[in-house]
Amino acid sequence: MEKRQQVILSSESIAFDKEHRKIINYNISKYIGAAQQGKSQFVNINLAKQRASATKNKVIENLDKFLIEFESNFIKKGGKIIWAQNAEDAIAEIKKIAKSSSCNHIVKSKSMVTEEINLNKELVADSVEVIETDLGEYIQQLSGEPPYHIVTPAMHKSKESIAELPNAKKQTDSNVSPNELAEFVRNELRDKFITAQIGVTGANYLIADTGSVVLTENEGNAINGMAFPKVHISICGIEKLIPSIYDLDVFITLLASFGTGQQITTYNSIISGPKQNDEDDGPDEMYLILLDNNRTGLLALAEQRRALACIKCGACSNVCPVYKNVGGHTYGAVYGGPIGSVIMPHLKPEENYYHLSSASTMCGKCTASCPVGIDIHKLLLYNRRDFVAKGHSTKTENLYRFFWKTAMLKRSKMDKGGAKVKNFMMRQFFRKQWGERREMPEVVTKSFNQQWREQRGIK
Ligand code: SF4
Repeated sequence: MEKRQQVILSSESIAFDKEHRKIINYNISKYIGAAQQGKSQFVNINLAKQRASATKNKVIENLDKFLIEFESNFIKKGGKIIWAQNAEDAIAEIKKIAKSSSCNHIVKSKSMVTEEINLNKELVADSVEVIETDLGEYIQQLSGEPPYHIVTPAMHKSKESIAELPNAKKQTDSNVSPNELAEFVRNELRDKFITAQIGVTGANYLIADTGSVVLTENEGNAINGMAFPKVHISICGIEKLIPSIYDLDVFITLLASFGTGQQITTYNSIISGPKQNDEDDGPDEMYLILLDNNRTGLLALAEQRRALACIKCGACSNVCPVYKNVGGHTYGAVYGGPIGSVIMPHLKPEENYYHLSSASTMCGKCTASCPVGIDIHKLLLYNRRDFVAKGHSTKTENLYRFFWKTAMLKRSKMDKGGAKVKNFMMRQFFRKQWGERREMPEVVTKSFNQQWREQRGIK
């Protein structure tokens, strides 16, 4: 079935799933309250947002220079850089490292880029077990589902449904408390951390002037995954840079406030290479995989490249009326929600995700919620324009658009036919797209223009 059609069908069913709605509304309302609290730590939040936005825009406009600066500083501390043009390159390199480390299992912390390259499936096919160590991701792995949300992967699940999952069910009952569930997972994972040969993490930021990888988290699983195994592989998109360690304060606090409503996340690690000679702990080897996967294609688009400033806080999804109704999985994309609809058509042009740009009411809440000032709803409009220009719209849509444009560009044509004819045409041609459950708008008998003229006696 065509991807676009699949999205329409699953949105129809999920929007009327009352249990799903109840859980999402509850979790998002908790987030909204917490985020307000988290944001109150800023004396001038707009100034912090402007600073973050300007910094990320500087990075995007000079990405080549910052990448080279980062690479040279990272290498100085003994780290190894792998440039991966696409998912296949990244997978091949990770498999190579796994083979040379005689690796049979990997502990992995939360990373959307590993979802983007489909890492788990690829490694399992190569007989390497991958254990998700973030609680939400662990739950999703048990469920056999991809993450539902870029920050809270199991946002759509109740504690009862989690306790019912096959592995959890062995040792828990449905009355289990969230603390008991967390304890159960902690016990399951402890040995895995100690015995894994490789730890895979994402990276929240890359600091160009120190050559460091920054990880922010709340569970300590990323630190454990980085520090226990002999080999640490970090993987992220090439856009994750910030120029200096002096920029980190604003990004760490903005991400915590907008992502989870905290003042700061519980664990924040700045990792500069593998274990040094005078250090006792840490991995013997550290690799950083810098993934392009068409980010340079997005970078080439002057209007849409701002999307690369995203720090993946998930705030735009939490305020989006579409996301709240249809949920994260309906997008059928690694990155869901408003920013996912902007970037997916560019990250995976061969998979035609342009229809996601229409999954927006254009209310602008996403733009207002963004800590780095990305004008998300405008970028969706640019995508829609490109969608049409690249010939992805249907013949019927093109025909509607032609008639609409012809009428809109000339008053005499717009007034032709009167309200009766226009309402008939609307019902004939737009009823299906408008949706069975929505009342069609009616064209009034006298247009604004006619009323204006009449009131002022203009002939
Ligand atoms: S676009 Fe902005 S609000 Fe949305 S996830 Fe990225 S940083 Fe957060």
